[in-house]
Amino acid sequence: MQRASGLLPAAIRFQMNFNVRNSMAFNPISEIGEFGLIERLSAIAAPSLDNTPGVVVGIGDDCAVYRTGGPAVQVATTDLLVEHVHFDLLTTPMHHLGSKAISVNVSDICAMNALPEYALISIAVPGKMPVEMVEQLYAGMAHAASRYGFAIAGGDTSSSPSGLVISVTMTGQTAESRLTFRKGARPGEMICVTGTLGGSAAGLKLLMRERDLMLETLRNNEPYSKEMMAELQEYSRAIRCHLLPEARLDLVQFFHERGIVPTSMIDISDGLAADLRHICERSGVGAHIEESRIPVLSEARAIADELQDDALSWALSGGEDYELLFTLPKEQYDVISSNREISVIGEILPEEEGLLLTDIFGMTIDIGESAGGFDHFVP
Ligand code: ADP
Ligand code: MG
Repeated sequence: MQRASGLLPAAIRFQMNFNVRNSMAFNPISEIGEFGLIERLSAIAAPSLDNTPGVVVGIGDDCAVYRTGGPAVQVATTDLLVEHVHFDLLTTPMHHLGSKAISVNVSDICAMNALPEYALISIAVPGKMPVEMVEQLYAGMAHAASRYGFAIAGGDTSSSPSGLVISVTMTGQTAESRLTFRKGARPGEMICVTGTLGGSAAGLKLLMRERDLMLETLRNNEPYSKEMMAELQEYSRAIRCHLLPEARLDLVQFFHERGIVPTSMIDISDGLAADLRHICERSGVGAHIEESRIPVLSEARAIADELQDDALSWALSGGEDYELLFTLPKEQYDVISSNREISVIGEILPEEEGLLLTDIFGMTIDIGESAGGFDHFVP
């Protein structure tokens, strides 16, 4: 009698043999990390770009950019939120989660100096999840859509054997003359950042501490203490930064009104240091920033004191603040100086100078090596 495997199509048999024989020889992703993996995958995908001459930017910036023939260019981005990786349903209201899934995409559109137009939303949902929870998620998304002014135009739905997975893909548009990339920063230019930093990491630390305390209390069969709730209330700004970040579309509108086109721009999703490094690498420049000029959220400092942690580290490498980091020639200082949401934190240097930080005691260190930011595969 013929063995079952003999009936399998040759390709599947080959794949199975290949998996078994090579399982010991495969490289774990953790050895090259998230960015190493993206580099290897983009090398495989690169030839596909030759099929469409309209692509202005492929992999490597906050959005892909392509021409469709009209006066404006289109931008497109996608982001994935995975339960237990990006969020914990014990500490995340569904409405907030929906809004955040939208904001992180709008933020990438903003980083190109563009405005959002359409979103496609795909979800993989555990079958046991109540319908009402998914509706709450969508209410948060719809609310964000009306605030940012774009349409939810489709998506896909699947069951999930483990947690909730949300994937949002968003398109936007801008005049080609307004486009900003990660590349384009030049020595001598100002390094600017919007809003405040460190709030999201501070909020997350607090939420994680409260979650652990809550689980401990429940395990011990004790009543959940009102004091914990009061503390969360006291630090509501930082918690809000984490659960309900706002994309800085208001700043993009400010740029458009004033005719400002930053020479380079990125949104801060990985942390100030890592995202500044992305600008430096893409632009072929170095940078110098000063601790005293970094706008750390004051509540983050208070939380860091309480948790005996360091708010500056949260600002530099906590990530998820979704503020904009951009560069401008110094001559344009007067155009931005009136906007209290913009801080000048340093200056672009020639590449060989590295990525420098001067602390409040006047000591200057190179943070280039340690500016890794969050990596999904490196513990
Ligand atoms: P951001 O933090 O702005 O969302 P990422 O660090 O996620 O950017 O991605 C960096 C670049 O790599 C982007 O241009 C993105 O489109 C691209 N990228 C990430 N993952 C993949 C993938 N699996 N396949 C192709 N391109 C990818
Ligand atoms: Mg980005």
